[in-house]
Amino acid sequence: AIPLVVSVSTSKSAQNGLLIRNRTAFENARRISTLVFDKTGTLTNGTFEVTAVNVHSDSYTEEQIVSFAASLEGHSEHPIGKGIVQKATTMGIKPESADNFEAIKGKGVSGIVSGKQIEVVSPGYLKEQNLAIPEGAEAKGGVTRVFVLVDNTIAGSLALSDTIRPESYKAVQALQKRGIKCWMLTGDNTATAKAVAEELGMDGFFAEVLPDQKQEKIKELQKKGEYVAMTGDGVNDSPALAQAQVGIAVGSGTDVAASTADIILVNSNPLDITALILFGRATYQKMV
Ligand code: ADP
Ligand code: MG
Repeated sequence: AIPLVVSVSTSKSAQNGLLIRNRTAFENARRISTLVFDKTGTLTNGTFEVTAVNVHSDSYTEEQIVSFAASLEGHSEHPIGKGIVQKATTMGIKPESADNFEAIKGKGVSGIVSGKQIEVVSPGYLKEQNLAIPEGAEAKGGVTRVFVLVDNTIAGSLALSDTIRPESYKAVQALQKRGIKCWMLTGDNTATAKAVAEELGMDGFFAEVLPDQKQEKIKELQKKGEYVAMTGDGVNDSPALAQAQVGIAVGSGTDVAASTADIILVNSNPLDITALILFGRATYQKMV
């Protein structure tokens, strides 16, 4: 039988856009020693704005760089893609049609635009391809830069910025006050991850982590004796959510529904995550 205090608590929680799929995990909220947050869309607003367009080849103009990128990104669900499409709209650029669109998980997108092979990718992807970062496009804290490749050569790049959610400060502080360490796990570059982690006074971060490496990072913390809860926003995060002692999927959408999370939160507000953990603790403390 479900103890009364739990049934009261879970029905109360359903009203808050919270679905608890694994009650044991929820009971274990009181054991959590480290909470690993995903960055984009949870600690930050996840709305990227293009702050600069750089041309790295004499063969192209700013408009062409934006046009190539936006034509592909129109097919992407990623917040970076949405920011690039927005920039094209602001510049009065109409995206062209794209063929063979493909998302390169955790790295970018690729496809064919106007008969050219186009890629919009992370600095990590350039490194893999042995392409040097062009002058003026070096990593900088708070800036997420993506590179536009045309037929495998760097034509230009776009600098984007996301903003920290005001609720993140309180969420991190509230957890730390109760002895829970706060970490960040992101696919974004180290300079930006570091800037966000430092700004929020977090206990640590993992950056430039590909979707299939996220699980390993959770294991690393567990090997150090941490009891880990993790937030994630999609199917890509499923193995890591399953690895964590408490997996919390955030956001709406089909990805979340299909994920392996123990707990699903409709809102990605970090204060809701904090409240959930503290609520779990309070609920089960009442029973002892
Ligand atoms: P996060 O862990 O913050 O959610 P992702 O794994 O979604 O990050 O993305 C990691 C990196 O991959 C981004 O910072 C970006 O450099 C690159 N990337 C992902 N999707 C796209 C896209 N649609 N266009 C350009 N770059 C992308
Ligand atoms: Mg993500």
